[in-house]
Amino acid sequence: MTLGEAKDFSYLYSDETKARKPSPLKTCIHLFQDPNIIFLGGGLPLSDYFPWDNLVVDSPLPPFAKGIGAPLTGTKEDSLKVSIKKQDQSNGTIPLARGLQYGFTNGQPELIKFLKEHNTIIHDMKYADWDVIATTGNTNAWESTLRIFCNKGDVILAEAHSFSSSLASAEAQGVIVFPLPIDQNGIIPEKLEAIMDNWNPEAAKPKLLYTIPTGQNPTGTSLADDRKEKIYRIAQKHDFIIVEDEPYYFLQMEPYIRDPKERTAKKLTHEEFLKSLAKTFLSIDTEGRVIRLDSFSKVLAPATRLGWITASKSILQSYVYLHEMTIQAASGFTQALVAGTLNSWGQDGYLDWLLGLRHEYTLKRDNAIDALHKYLPKTDAFVVNPPIAGMFFTVDIDASAHPEFKAKYDSDPAQVEHAIYEKVISSGVLVVPGSWFKTEGETVPPQPVESKMTGNRNEIFFRGTYAAVSPEKLTEGLKRLSIALKEEFGL
Ligand code: PMP
Repeated sequence: MTLGEAKDFSYLYSDETKARKPSPLKTCIHLFQDPNIIFLGGGLPLSDYFPWDNLVVDSPLPPFAKGIGAPLTGTKEDSLKVSIKKQDQSNGTIPLARGLQYGFTNGQPELIKFLKEHNTIIHDMKYADWDVIATTGNTNAWESTLRIFCNKGDVILAEAHSFSSSLASAEAQGVIVFPLPIDQNGIIPEKLEAIMDNWNPEAAKPKLLYTIPTGQNPTGTSLADDRKEKIYRIAQKHDFIIVEDEPYYFLQMEPYIRDPKERTAKKLTHEEFLKSLAKTFLSIDTEGRVIRLDSFSKVLAPATRLGWITASKSILQSYVYLHEMTIQAASGFTQALVAGTLNSWGQDGYLDWLLGLRHEYTLKRDNAIDALHKYLPKTDAFVVNPPIAGMFFTVDIDASAHPEFKAKYDSDPAQVEHAIYEKVISSGVLVVPGSWFKTEGETVPPQPVESKMTGNRNEIFFRGTYAAVSPEKLTEGLKRLSIALKEEFGL
């Protein structure tokens, strides 16, 4: 089947994007690689003077039989030497003479090729002219996205609780972030549709929906596949772009099973693994309306500062023009190391790595949820939400169950939240209040009152992670949290 082309969404661009012209110097940089051209056109230092000739790193060898965290012996059994030379381009490595030079704002070809192949394995792309570009991670990719589409005063949509840095990035640009009601399965399409159908016609319509579909930060929830189809149709009806920010996509786990005896440690085949993954907005997108942000931060290492955007070629061109004037390119060392490693592992080896992560995170999540079930007081006032993806668990708390809700806290859930926060810190553990992640934008003129009902006002929650500490510390931390809540609620 031949696939159609993406639609033109340039009418949604910001004034800045419409005004931006390509940097004239960048229009000829590709000729630097042309052996027939004596390139006297740019301020490029000679690569002979780059003081690195050969980068050699030890990396674990697929299929990571002893687990992805097992220490390396340095032997051929479990270790792989990735060698990146100044000129050599074998095995998909980026020659340092090129990798450490200016240019290739969209990413080095060896990396881009790997990412496009990876995308084709993961997503069922439904239009022809999609592409990927490298970024310095999703923080950068999201900031660029805002700049490309939004003017000061424009409106975007986001989950009612969302990643605070993404919200702050929008607010700093004067962009209004309007909250969408969510439940255990993410954004509720019917509510989104009602909000959009009843949108105050005097206010600017949202240009973007910013969503973290998998292992949402901070709620830990994952957006159900069937909801994605519905949300996509609403996006078409009301003409907004969907931005899926997916740093946790490959931290999808086995579903939580309460009884440890019922759990199986069955190793999935690649086929089973791929089938188990959540459907992506990219896989639904027929017209280039989805921009997907992927990052290596949670699957390789945060300070790689490397990620990629998948979108239509024409939208990506706007990112390239912006990045030429901002980040220029993702770090050459990073691209060389990551492309060298991934191309040595191959696509199958990378799937083995992702499977290994799935295994590790399933154990961590189980450990955390088991401890919460064991230590938290058994009352309807506390609800534990076992996530199926990501790094975060949440404990929902009915603030009105606090014995001093009325007398001391003036029936104000925010005051109860603050008191709990202080109590848990003094008990020697840190979990963070849900209110820190609240999406609170309002349009001018405002939206109807019904559009702002985002749930039970007395329900508060705390976010914790099971990613960052050893199982022993995690259990101890959750024990302390449970004791703090027990004392605070006089149980
Ligand atoms: N988006 C979300 C939803 C996140 O949770 C995070 C990291 N906490 C980021 C983006 C930042 O990712 P990166 O390291 O790729 O900039």
